Amino acid sequence: MSVLVIHFLELALKGRNRPWFVASLVRSIRLLLADQDISHVRHVQGRIEARLGANADWAEIRSRLSMLPGIANFARAEQTEPTIDAMWDAMAPMLAGLQPKSFRVKVRRINKLFLTPSPQVERALGERVINATNWAVDLTKPELTLRVEALKEHALVYAHREPGTGGLPLGTGGKVLCLLSGGIDSPVAAWRMIRRGCRASFIHFHAYPILSRSSQDKARQLVQTLTRAQLSSRLFLVPFGAVQQQVVLNVPPPLRVVIYRRLMVRIAEAVAERHNALALVTGDVVGQVASQTLENIAAVNRVATIPMLRPLVGDDKEEITAIARTIGTYETSIIPDEDCCTLFTPRLPSTRTTPQLVEDAEAQLDVPALVAMALEGVTVETFKFPHANKAGS
Ligand code: ATP
Ligand code: MG
Repeated sequence: MSVLVIHFLELALKGRNRPWFVASLVRSIRLLLADQDISHVRHVQGRIEARLGANADWAEIRSRLSMLPGIANFARAEQTEPTIDAMWDAMAPMLAGLQPKSFRVKVRRINKLFLTPSPQVERALGERVINATNWAVDLTKPELTLRVEALKEHALVYAHREPGTGGLPLGTGGKVLCLLSGGIDSPVAAWRMIRRGCRASFIHFHAYPILSRSSQDKARQLVQTLTRAQLSSRLFLVPFGAVQQQVVLNVPPPLRVVIYRRLMVRIAEAVAERHNALALVTGDVVGQVASQTLENIAAVNRVATIPMLRPLVGDDKEEITAIARTIGTYETSIIPDEDCCTLFTPRLPSTRTTPQLVEDAEAQLDVPALVAMALEGVTVETFKFPHANKAGS
């Protein structure tokens, strides 16, 4: 019988909360693989196991699990009786077609009810592998590790272990609202929070109908991709063009970006409060662009009354881009769009603001009225994975 075996690492550290963490992970695996030929997803002695049916699509299962938070690694294994002969019967067919430079057998006895000590089982199975293949043994840095997990009533045997993404299971970290532009950074920032077990909702500010709908389409596409990691998401779309027009009429060009951002934060906070999100998340990186000097970040932060989390704040562009590629948002992020922040702003925004300058500029605006106006126009869409997304209200 083929089984899926999933290991979690960090969870092991969570003490008395551990059963809750594991239950969250089991629940999200069930949902993620609901449309697959898979059954009996359950926690068995420190790992999660499931039965893989004949029609299970392993390539698809592997790609989905590789993005699910809370998994250290996983494998497709054969389940056998806990005897050396049965283990070998399961292992032998796995060797076909492989030509590693070196190998080792690694055995873990999970509850020591399997009486033969691990090194002895490793040696017995290793000898059979050598007899069958003539492969060289390397105990320190083998190219291929054949693994056996000996449990109470059965053993699992496998030759390939897939890396998981780490982090903590979905829903164990609280709710955040992510400010999502169409760029490379903010989807990666959202991903970092999802990976820590947070449930992310998204808010995107657009200037339609002054600009095209392209930025909204990108935001939708990005949320759809990130929903692969958290199974369901909400995207709030905020019409921001009319607010920006008021800023343009009253605020000198160099300060406009900071004022836009301060308005975005106030609007996002109102949405966060309505939907019980505990923090805002942005893709800010210190010094990456002119609008992200520490002075400007501070000026924007000053209007926030809930935490503003910036998981990328100290990262280099290369690091962020590499993550964007692995999570699949990069291709969408680089599509050219018409971002609302470029509307009516100079190419060189002020890099050095003072609180006084910003407050004087904002005094020319009816801030509560602008926030209320934007909130009037907010629409929300729901995204699901593995099921298709649907628009809602
Ligand atoms: P990104 O790659 O995420 O667009 P960026 O380097 O272009 O980031 P900015 O454009 O200065 O940086 O934006 C900083 C952060 O402000 C973004 O990461 C995002 O969280 C938020 N933000 C900017 N524009 C928008 C928008 N139109 N809607 C929602 N959030 C936005
Ligand atoms: Mg941007």
